[in-house]
Amino acid sequence: MTSPIHIIGGGLAGSEAAWQVVSAGIPVILHEMRPVRPTEAHKGEGFAELVCSNSFRSDDKDYNAVGLLHEEMRRAGSLILAAADLCKVPAGSALAVDRDAFSDEVTRVLSEHPLIETRREEVTGLPPAEWGPTIIATGPLTAPALAEAIKAESGEESLAFFDAIAPIVYRESIDFSICWMQSRYDKEGPGGGKADYINCPLDKEQYHAFIAALVAGEKTEFKDWEKDTPYFEGCLPIEVMASRGVETLRYGPMKGVGLDDPRTGRWPYAVVQLRQDNALGTLYNMVGFQTKLKHAAQVEIFRTIPGLEKAEFARLGGLHRNIFLNSPRLLDPTLRLKSQPHIRFAGQVTGCEGYVESAAVGLLAGRFAVAERGGLEPVAPPLTTAMGALLSHITGGAEAESFQPMNVNFGLFPVPEGKLPKGRDRKRVYTARALADLESWLNPTSVAAE
Ligand SMILES: Cc1cc2nc3c(=O)[nH]c(=O)nc-3n(C[C@H](O)[C@H](O)[C@H](O)COP(=O)(O)OP(=O)(O)OC[C@H]3O[C@@H](n4cnc5c(N)ncnc54)[C@H](O)[C@@H]3O)c2cc1C
Repeated sequence: MTSPIHIIGGGLAGSEAAWQVVSAGIPVILHEMRPVRPTEAHKGEGFAELVCSNSFRSDDKDYNAVGLLHEEMRRAGSLILAAADLCKVPAGSALAVDRDAFSDEVTRVLSEHPLIETRREEVTGLPPAEWGPTIIATGPLTAPALAEAIKAESGEESLAFFDAIAPIVYRESIDFSICWMQSRYDKEGPGGGKADYINCPLDKEQYHAFIAALVAGEKTEFKDWEKDTPYFEGCLPIEVMASRGVETLRYGPMKGVGLDDPRTGRWPYAVVQLRQDNALGTLYNMVGFQTKLKHAAQVEIFRTIPGLEKAEFARLGGLHRNIFLNSPRLLDPTLRLKSQPHIRFAGQVTGCEGYVESAAVGLLAGRFAVAERGGLEPVAPPLTTAMGALLSHITGGAEAESFQPMNVNFGLFPVPEGKLPKGRDRKRVYTARALADLESWLNPTSVAAE
């Protein structure tokens, strides 16, 4: 029988990588340390657990880079996207999922697969040579012993940043005589709904009092070794945004535009939005409200938000230190560790950022491992695709000196040639080109034969 490919970590990236490998008929040994050893953020033992938001962000494949990444992954047979599509909940134009159903589905598919052997164990050092080709997808919360081994091998100072999680509220505890359901500008989501968000309106006075409370609220102290760790700019705690200026949140997650308060018929001065978190619709998460306020301060301050005076919290926010590699320096273009090419990295530990990006890099690592096993040189997707642009950024396009985790965005793509339309139509040029070029990567022979 063909020897297996080892994959360490059953998160977003490891699960997708495992699926891609077994889909090519090659067996996998999947090492996942939960529940033997927990992480600071995961709650259960299922594969592909979403630790914070339940959103895979925009599902708009024509005008949005992450929506395009969804579509590319669907076309590449992604398990993560198939499970997300199956478990989606209303979220305007975003793809959001019931997190438990989603993780259960990925766990079911992988556990039932005859070519996958799961080992619930912590891997405490670099994979031994006798394992052969191995994918490390242990994520931003890689257990310390393995993280130390990676650091020793790479010779790099450990790279890290802070990521925070947002609170979840029980819907029944929200006051609907104040709040209302509406998507911004009534924009229709993939499920057809135009009223997918719960909106809590704040007037000027309430907003200013709220900002003052956030800035003054008691924060979780950093430990000494954490003090120089930067935040990920795309996921700043709200109290950090508030401290940057009184208007910052009003131009960010608390902007009131496109939302008509039924009590006034007008857009509110500011708003707090909540998005459905489970299929039952009993839980809603506070959008963009990641925080490192102490738990008691969170409850006190968030209950000053109109409509949330009696809010009960299923989970409060928190802050976690994430590690990642200096991938532009350490990895080759197909994610192999230059110093030990039998080891490939995937997921957020490579310095991509986000659930979808992590899964996409897992998909690539799985496919590269399959090609290699077949005696072929792995080929990266074209730079003009979302997967190719992201991969190229983390494996060399980014400046190694100032490397920080990166979400997929149109700035990573080469600018199309010729005169480009302005505004929204410009994005359409990028996405149409990406999907056409992806085809030649997915089906090289059929395109060559045309
Ligand atoms: C606190 C926090 C909040 C985040 N919030 C968001 C968000 O809201 N939206 C978003 O898009 N992204 C978010 N991210 C970023 C990122 O998208 C997620 O961390 C995502 O889960 C990364 O996928 P991954 O597969 O790389 O890692 P993970 O999904 O974390 O999977 C890694 C797996 O490896 C296992 N593991 C670790 N070490 C070992 C070992 N030594 N041996 C065996 N198994 C091991 C872990 O148990 C885990 O199951 C957040 C990250 C953190 C830490």
